[in-house]
Amino acid sequence: MRRFDCQSCGACCCNTERNRSIGNRAYIEVTRSERLYRLHREQLRGLGFRDERGLWHLRLVGEEQRCIALDGQIGVRVACTIYPQRPGGCKKVQPGDDECMEARRSKRVGLAAGLRKQ
Ligand code: SF4
Ligand code: SF4
Repeated sequence: MRRFDCQSCGACCCNTERNRSIGNRAYIEVTRSERLYRLHREQLRGLGFRDERGLWHLRLVGEEQRCIALDGQIGVRVACTIYPQRPGGCKKVQPGDDECMEARRSKRVGLAAGLRKQ
């Protein structure tokens, strides 16, 4: 599997093209078992919203519909400001896997350099 530098990417921290096409902004779910829900509820209230089923999600902001916890410029230098308590869904995406590659393509990250390697 190819390896990429997540700190110069951030593509998977943005809402997917598929979600965007159907107007779905509930991208990053925070389940009740997450550290962010159990131990950092105040922080979650500041960063998240509850959907009509009462499930928490991190908010998406800006034109890019990026996760509110993402700092920096996508494709250049980024950092997750809640990295130790990021939700499980964030941990599932691995650099170079299908979801990663789709996110990078949709954000055109590294395309000019032939999908920049780490
Ligand atoms: S899209 Fe891939 S390389 Fe970019 S931040 Fe996500 S896992 Fe890392
Ligand atoms: S919580 Fe962190 S890793 Fe997860 S989408 Fe937001 S910025 Fe990215």
